[in-house]
Amino acid sequence: MKMKNITELKAAMALAQNIVIIPHKNPDGDAMGSTLALHSYLVKKQKNATVITPNDYPSFLKWLPYNDDVVVYENNNQQAKKLISNADLIFTLDFNHLGRCGDLQEPLIANTKADFVMIDHHQQPDDYATYMYSDSSMCSTCEMVYHFIEQMGDLELLTKEIATCLYTGIMTDTGSFRYRSTTSTTHRVIAHLIDAGANNTQIHEQIYDTNTFSKLQLKGVALKNLRLFPEYRTAYISLSQKELNDHNFKKGDTEGFVNIGLSIDNIIFAVIFIENENEEIIKMSFRSKGDFSVNQFARNHFEGGGHDNAAGGKSDLNMSETIEKFMTILPQYKKELLDS
Ligand code: 5GP
Ligand code: MN
Repeated sequence: MKMKNITELKAAMALAQNIVIIPHKNPDGDAMGSTLALHSYLVKKQKNATVITPNDYPSFLKWLPYNDDVVVYENNNQQAKKLISNADLIFTLDFNHLGRCGDLQEPLIANTKADFVMIDHHQQPDDYATYMYSDSSMCSTCEMVYHFIEQMGDLELLTKEIATCLYTGIMTDTGSFRYRSTTSTTHRVIAHLIDAGANNTQIHEQIYDTNTFSKLQLKGVALKNLRLFPEYRTAYISLSQKELNDHNFKKGDTEGFVNIGLSIDNIIFAVIFIENENEEIIKMSFRSKGDFSVNQFARNHFEGGGHDNAAGGKSDLNMSETIEKFMTILPQYKKELLDS
C-alpha cells in the first residue's frame, strides 16, 4: 500500500472525535460498499463516523449494513452541513477530485480545520488530501479499504458487515471478477471476505436478481436503440427522457446497459447516452476492451474521466446534437480502435 504517512494518519485517527466519509455523486456499488465498510470499521474502533452521500443511490444497494445511518446531502442539507463543519477528519472514497461530489464540495471546502484522506483508484488524482492512498492499478476502492485496514494492523476486526460491504464493491467494480484489473490478490482478498462472513450467493442475488419488470422492459428499449459501427468497432445506445419516464425509471435502472454493446463480437468501444431533462444534460457512460482509453476520450471531448476501460462524461447539447458530435469525433480514433 502506497501511503507515505500511515503512522501520522494512525495518530490522527486516534485523536479524531468526529469523522465523515464521502463517496462521489451518484454512488455505485464500490462507492457505497467502501464508505459503509469504512464506517463499520471505524464504529468497531469506537469512532464517531457518518457516511454522507451527495445524492440518493439505487435501491439495490439499500440493504447494505448500516445503510440506515447514511445521510443524503440533497435530502438533509442542514444535518449534513453540521456534520461536515464539526468533522476533524474527512475520508473521501472512490473519487479523485472534489468536483465529483457535486454541491457537497462547498461545505467540504469550507471546513479548513479537518484533514482529508483520499482512498481511490481513479487516474490523475487532485492533491487536496493530506493523506493520500491513490492506486489506479486497483480493481476497486473496496479492495483498497481492505488493504488500508490491513495496513492499520486491524484485519482481525473484519466483521461480517465489513466483509459484506467490501465483497459488494469488489464484485460490482470488476463486473463479477472478470475485468482485467482483477488480480490473484483480489481473489485472495475475496476468499478472506467469504471466510469473514460475506455470503457470496446472497450478495449476487441482492444486487443482480432484484430487477423490476419495468426495468427489464427498459432494457428491451435499450436493445432496440443499439447502433453498431463495425468499421470503428463501436456500438452505442441512447435513451430519451420519455423512454425513461414511460418505464417508471428509478436511479440505477440503466446500470450495466452500456456493457450490452461490448458483448458483441469485435466491438471494443461502447457508449450509452442518457437524457436527463432535470439537469439539462446528456449523461454518458463509456466502456472499452483492451488498450483504448475511454478515460482519455471522456476527458478530451465530454468533460469527464474515469478509468482506462470505464469512464463517464456529459454534454450540454441535446440528444441528436450530442450523438452527431460523437459521430464526428469517432473517425479521429479509427486507427487506435482498429489497432487495440
Ligand atoms: P459510470 O459510467 O458507471 O457512471 O462511471 C464509470 C466510471 O467513470 C466510474 O469510475 C466513475 O467514477 C467515472 N465517471 C463517471 N462519470 C464521470 C464524470 O462525469 N467525470 C469523471 N471524472 N468521472 C466520471
Ligand atoms: Mn470504484
